[in-house]
Amino acid sequence: MAGRFAPSPTSDLHLGNLRTALVAWLLARSTGRDYRLRIEDLDTQRVAAAGDVAARQQRDLAALGLDVDGPVVWQSARTAAYADAVAGLDTYPCYCTRREIAEAASAPHGDGYRPYPGTCLRLSASRRAQLEATRTPALRVRANGASSTVVDLWAGEVSGVVDDFVVVRNDGVAAYNLAVVVDDLAMDVDQVCRGDDLLSSSPRQAWLARRLGGEPPGYAHVPLAVNAQGRRLAKRDGAVTLADLAAVGVDAEGVLGLLAVSLDLAEPGEHVSAAGLRARFDPALLPRLPWVVG
Ligand code: GLU
Repeated sequence: MAGRFAPSPTSDLHLGNLRTALVAWLLARSTGRDYRLRIEDLDTQRVAAAGDVAARQQRDLAALGLDVDGPVVWQSARTAAYADAVAGLDTYPCYCTRREIAEAASAPHGDGYRPYPGTCLRLSASRRAQLEATRTPALRVRANGASSTVVDLWAGEVSGVVDDFVVVRNDGVAAYNLAVVVDDLAMDVDQVCRGDDLLSSSPRQAWLARRLGGEPPGYAHVPLAVNAQGRRLAKRDGAVTLADLAAVGVDAEGVLGLLAVSLDLAEPGEHVSAAGLRARFDPALLPRLPWVVG
């Protein structure tokens, strides 16, 4: 049994990411679980730079006292596992461009996701031959209009129709939804605590976990950190990483204190440790609104 934190090594962790990592750690530890770390580096073109970022991310988690169990898993090393999983799924090639999907599909969901309208299921032989000659396909899983429901620890029941989503991108790389599910199953992760921007992906991912012969994890989506304008916190919002904050005199303990205050687990100025917060943590009392930074 394990919880996990799964950052993409695209930039240093900011206060919102660190807060999610802390909540995932508190939830895992307070429920007797391991806390695993996975580096989601499938999208990263510059591998060397990604390695540097990932090393800093690991240092930052350690500086906050969030200890990690087991080996760190790098998605870039898991190509064979993804290929095995795809081989066991009912998939079909899809030649559509983003633009074609946007033109054919119904309006995007609130999260910007456009359910696939099934165009490539219904191609004429001549159109298929033409596309095969000119484009490299992605692979989509055939979901046959299934629907799926998960129960999130904080958001409650979340249902969604599962579209034929991409499992292998047209550059041959495993798609995010596939890799996450394959890895969580392989890493014995049964508790997925992450930012609530991914809440709407969870019915799709739970469905895929079952398709792959596994049990979906429990979900716990943490409200995001936002800036003073209410937009998702980003690095350009000022001193938001551990390194930025250290430069203005706030050390890791001070940052942990800020995060603890934002979670109603400490008073401003109080000295805290991750282990000490664990004793105070009650998931039922987690603040349910976005955390406004700045
Ligand atoms: N790598 C994703 C991110 O950094 C998180 C994926 C997940 O937790 O399922 O947003």
